[in-house]
Amino acid sequence: MNSAPLAASYREVALWQAQVSLPSLDVPTLPAEADAVVVGGGYCGLAAAWTLAQRGRQVVLVEAKALGFGASTRNGGMVIPELKAGPAKLEQQYGSLGRRMFQAVGEAFDFVESLISEHSIACDYQRTGQLYLAHHPRAVAALRAYAEEYAAAGEAVELIDGSDLGNEIGSTVFSAAAVFERTGAVHPARLHQGLVSLASRAGVHLHDFTEVTRLERPKSGGFRVVTRRGAIAARDVIVAANAYIDGLIPRLARRVLPIGSYVIATRPLDPGLADAVSPRRRMFVDTKNFLFYWRLSPDDRMVFGGRKSLGSTTVAEARDYLYRSMVRIHPQLSGLEIEYAWGGDVAMTLDRLPHVGYLDKVLYATGCNGSGVALNTWMGARVGGMVCGDDPPPFAELRHRAIPASGLRRCYLPFVSAWFRFEDRFGLG
Ligand SMILES: Cc1cc2nc3c(=O)[nH]c(=O)nc-3n(C[C@H](O)[C@H](O)[C@H](O)COP(=O)(O)OP(=O)(O)OC[C@H]3O[C@@H](n4cnc5c(N)ncnc54)[C@H](O)[C@@H]3O)c2cc1C
Repeated sequence: MNSAPLAASYREVALWQAQVSLPSLDVPTLPAEADAVVVGGGYCGLAAAWTLAQRGRQVVLVEAKALGFGASTRNGGMVIPELKAGPAKLEQQYGSLGRRMFQAVGEAFDFVESLISEHSIACDYQRTGQLYLAHHPRAVAALRAYAEEYAAAGEAVELIDGSDLGNEIGSTVFSAAAVFERTGAVHPARLHQGLVSLASRAGVHLHDFTEVTRLERPKSGGFRVVTRRGAIAARDVIVAANAYIDGLIPRLARRVLPIGSYVIATRPLDPGLADAVSPRRRMFVDTKNFLFYWRLSPDDRMVFGGRKSLGSTTVAEARDYLYRSMVRIHPQLSGLEIEYAWGGDVAMTLDRLPHVGYLDKVLYATGCNGSGVALNTWMGARVGGMVCGDDPPPFAELRHRAIPASGLRRCYLPFVSAWFRFEDRFGLG
């Protein structure tokens, strides 16, 4: 088993976090009251708080750790308008709700693109397009059907194979790819910083290292939001904790499964090598259950992510596995030193769809299922709007089911992982 070659400067921290200075906040006292308290300082919480503040509400946003501690500064930076099922399958399963959910994810993508351009957020955004790559010859038929579903729904998508693939990716291991033009690339932490400054300029009180430990419902109405730094009385509470929900709302935690996803970033590639590996700087994702996602960063590092199983692992184990997988796909990167490796949690739901709703009167948005850069930002803005009386997004109509025996997941996840790996190996599923 090959270990990854490590740069002398190797750190187990997200590349993106290392490239920005996380905002340090200078707001010593926690307000005693607010119209609304938003819990969680990622894309979703910031977009919710910003929306509320723009509409004249007094808003306090509280984050347990540093602002941007969660997935919002650890992700792959792929802005993808996707749910885990294509438009036809969604409609078949959910009828008109399926159609509206598909429209919503397109809206989420447009929302983030225009947010970035209207507010000149310097986050290296590029409309790159995405290659969805068949990892096995048996996966091609399903990929073709998937691409056809999108094309029928009006999306710009094309199935390519053979020599056309060589113009798109410096790899010979894939049988075919669907090229989706409507995908972008972003520097995740710079996008996050942009949202922090939008929220702050709109008047949101931002408090980092302020974990909410309890949400009480006084008889007089509203909430008493108890944090490690004091309590805030508020009429409304939005919880935007996604995979990091932990024990704050046990009923919500039973509906969200946090699964680790891991990423490595190499040293910057020489320009010739970068062009050979990714001539058009597309976002790359493969069709496996345990999929890989990879791209070049704005400074031309290979950023390669995925996971080997649903179980827990260390960053070092995940790093070596990802390095071997990257080199199998791109042998020309063999020996390239790894400078950063990190992990973060994605929020899986039973139906693999995002959810918005109320539990114990608390409004929440969750369930990125690995694709939340656009969706969770947009859902944040939508739940902010709901507090002001706007209609909920379509995901609020879904029944948010608890994950069966979620307390026993350590026992059953290894079996699910083994089955997924079997399917991946033989191109089934
Ligand atoms: C490794 C990785 C790669 C990914 N790649 C992509 C990708 O390429 N494209 C894509 O679309 N999506 C991707 N995602 C998903 C995407 O990053 C998330 O959907 C999105 O960032 C979620 O934003 P959020 O604001 O909802 O949650 P987060 O950014 O996770 O923020 C939640 C915050 O809530 C805080 N919190 C929790 N409990 C409390 C409490 N009690 N009190 C106060 N604060 C609390 C946490 O500390 C955390 O900072 C990836 C995720 C990971 C982990």
